[in-house]
Amino acid sequence: MSEELKPCPCGSSAHIEDQSKTKNKHEGVVFGRIVCDKNNPFDVPSKRCYMKTVCGPLKEVIRSWNNRPREDALKVRIAELEGKNGSI
Ligand SMILES: [Zn+2]
Repeated sequence: MSEELKPCPCGSSAHIEDQSKTKNKHEGVVFGRIVCDKNNPFDVPSKRCYMKTVCGPLKEVIRSWNNRPREDALKVRIAELEGKNGSI
């Protein structure tokens, strides 16, 4: 998979779980889901992140995971404010 995953909103990295073997109704379409690396069932609940996506066509799942309109808008606004701050 060439598209890079954004980190989980908790700050941890995330990984793709291939679910193609369980979802073989649509040949040629790779199915999977994205799971936070801190979603470890053996961790104590207070240290665990429960973030994961539903299983679906992997291209759509990755697009959905990486879609962060608020985060992107905040990055633009921060860049604007840093630019203004530099000119003061
Ligand atoms: Zn997480």
